[in-house]
Amino acid sequence: MSSENNPFNAMLEEFSGAAKLLALDPGLWKVLTHPKRQIIVSCPVMMDNGQIEVFTGYRVQYNITLGPAKGGIRYHPGVNLDEVKALAAWMTWKCAVAGIPFGGGKGGIICDPTMMSQRELEALTRRYVGEIADAIGPDKDVPAPDVNTNAQTMAWIMDTYSMHVGVTSTGVVTGKPIEMGGSLGRREATGRGVMITAREAARHLGLNIEGATVAVQGFGNVGSVSADLLSRIGAKIVAVTDWKGGVHNPQGLDVTALIAWTEQRRTVAGFPGGDPLDPGKIFELDVDILVPAALENQITAQNHHLVKAALIVEGANGPTTPEAHKALHNRGVFIVPDILANAGGVTTSYFEWVQDRHGYFWEEDEVNERLERKMVAAFTSVLDTARDYNTDMRTAAYIVAINKVATVTRLRGMYA
Ligand code: GLU
Repeated sequence: MSSENNPFNAMLEEFSGAAKLLALDPGLWKVLTHPKRQIIVSCPVMMDNGQIEVFTGYRVQYNITLGPAKGGIRYHPGVNLDEVKALAAWMTWKCAVAGIPFGGGKGGIICDPTMMSQRELEALTRRYVGEIADAIGPDKDVPAPDVNTNAQTMAWIMDTYSMHVGVTSTGVVTGKPIEMGGSLGRREATGRGVMITAREAARHLGLNIEGATVAVQGFGNVGSVSADLLSRIGAKIVAVTDWKGGVHNPQGLDVTALIAWTEQRRTVAGFPGGDPLDPGKIFELDVDILVPAALENQITAQNHHLVKAALIVEGANGPTTPEAHKALHNRGVFIVPDILANAGGVTTSYFEWVQDRHGYFWEEDEVNERLERKMVAAFTSVLDTARDYNTDMRTAAYIVAINKVATVTRLRGMYA
């Protein structure tokens, strides 16, 4: 399968562009392109109708050179091993770019959570955690929310793991409810990082963020918070789409009202503050900024030529295929890559893990100020690297990340 529709091949292609520019040692090249550990489990669950269903779950620990594996768990019918491997690799590079002491991991379960009750989701989560309990832990591998998982899912994971080890272990997951060791600001952190990197990129391009028009694909945790925070700094959110439908208003959408609408109906479709929009048309709109905040493989060989925006900020992981990325970069579109743009989530996950370990919790302002500093520093180091190597922002982000992980791999050496 090509890099157009296989995310792991896409990751390898992105990696090799940067590794060539770095003249990476061929041995280290091999080490950094192989996942350390891949776990596949079968999770039997008693469904509400009294029948037993068996779900397949994955956890990939791609690399733990810089610290414990870190990364979310997603529940989606399209989950597969190559996708989880790619997402785990992207977490490795993301943590290195963000400057936090974690490796990369990712988990996923093939299921359709929209068709499952809360009780079934809890049973599935607990069984999955039971199956991988030996492999996770605050010093080993620390999961977090991702597509279709949330703070409640993390509470079940924390409880199941804690029951296995016999102590209350808050640091085993991040993105938990605030009441049980979660961090203030974590829920909003990925969207906040998208806002910060969009703002920094606009400044670099000489594009005034006040009045800049924005289209957002996906209105889950990342898309909705990105839209909200971008509108608060003056950008105009003119279109939003999700899996069910879309809404478009060239005068700007009322994002607060749209969030209230989706809380009731679980979709932006039908929102009265704009005209209906076919979700397939979101990337064609005549806007300044695109924020893909849904799934991978959305801006592809098929549709990149329709893009009119000057700036793309990747809230999702892997939304742009390598072929589309190359074409867009060649015609001057500035792309803030996923491993930089959406690193705010895992950065505040790191703050949550630190707070759990200290048993001392910070004010929300302190969390947000620290996130602001880390995101601006990461953006600046990637931009400087792009200038130094005369390359695009994605390749530059990989250069920063590969350099860090390769240096530590060399320092640690090979264990017999
Ligand atoms: N799932 C998020 C991501 O893709 C957050 C991961 C984390 O906080 O560990 O970056």
